[in-house]
Amino acid sequence: MSYVFEPPAIVSVPVAGSQSRFPVHRIYCVGRNYVEHAKEMGFTGREPPFFFMKPADALLVIAEGNTGEMPYPSVTKDLHHEMELVVAIGKGGRNIKAADAASHIYGYALGLDMTRRDLQGEAKKQGRPWEVGKAFDLSAPIGPIVPAAQAGDVNNADISLNVNGQVRQSSNVSKLIWNIAETIEHLSALWELAPGDLIFSGTPEGVAAVVQGDLLEGAVAGVGTLKVKIV
Ligand code: MN
Repeated sequence: MSYVFEPPAIVSVPVAGSQSRFPVHRIYCVGRNYVEHAKEMGFTGREPPFFFMKPADALLVIAEGNTGEMPYPSVTKDLHHEMELVVAIGKGGRNIKAADAASHIYGYALGLDMTRRDLQGEAKKQGRPWEVGKAFDLSAPIGPIVPAAQAGDVNNADISLNVNGQVRQSSNVSKLIWNIAETIEHLSALWELAPGDLIFSGTPEGVAAVVQGDLLEGAVAGVGTLKVKIV
């Protein structure tokens, strides 16, 4: 058997404090999962969780201690940051109950669900899919994955994003509308989860535009920091 061209390399994310890497399968994202963010987007937050996806090769993988460089994407004039806690699935399954969800989690990472907000807004207005706003190349900067046992109590961790040293987003993971375990229950009823899946769990309020030259510094207590420069 031979391929008609060289297949692309497996996308992978470093594991913090290790030489091993986490091979990525799919990227799921939860929409409007913090009440105050739902409100700033014009919704009440009282709705079941909903999901969208990004391709695995949309990750901008940033090694421990490095500052990632994200090129300002094409077409948009309104690139927004969405700081998120990312859940890394280590054991797959379908119809996983929230009570069993922890046993399916390998670890956690910091991620940015970067969004071409103008294109997403137009897609919403027209009733069209969100891919142009959400799933573009390098739309998902991500830092190393911290194994769950080393990550502390992520469900009650502070989450924040500074831009050029100014606080833009500041909340706590406990304010998720659908917590990590409930998110896994809902998601695994819709898709069979597999080892290597990543779940961007949603962003708190304070999303806003960034421009070339901006330095983004995200943090979740117990999971570390993430630095990205827009170039
Ligand atoms: Mn998001």
